[in-house]
Amino acid sequence: MSGQFHKIDALIKEKSLKSSDALYVTTRHMKEGKIRILALKSDGIARCEYICPNCMKYGYGEAPWQRPFSIPCANCGGKINVPKMREQFKREQKAEKAKAKKKQRA
Ligand SMILES: [Zn+2]
Repeated sequence: MSGQFHKIDALIKEKSLKSSDALYVTTRHMKEGKIRILALKSDGIARCEYICPNCMKYGYGEAPWQRPFSIPCANCGGKINVPKMREQFKREQKAEKAKAKKKQRA
């Protein structure tokens, strides 16, 4: 399925974009579905590729970048919310702690 995420890659290649050209870039995995966002400094527009968590279909859309960010699914019209960074951060923190504990025991 990840092979379908090619639009943003193609854009990066086509415009030879560097990370410094990006206002915001992320890939988020939801419980179901996935979203990749690239917002450019040059126009403030976020390009989004996603697997919709509602209909599980691939879609692509563009919208002015803002926080919190959401985009309507092109297939089912459902709103796709980007999970908050804080929640992802918490999960990562938890994983780190678990790792550290294992190390202590070893
Ligand atoms: Zn959908």
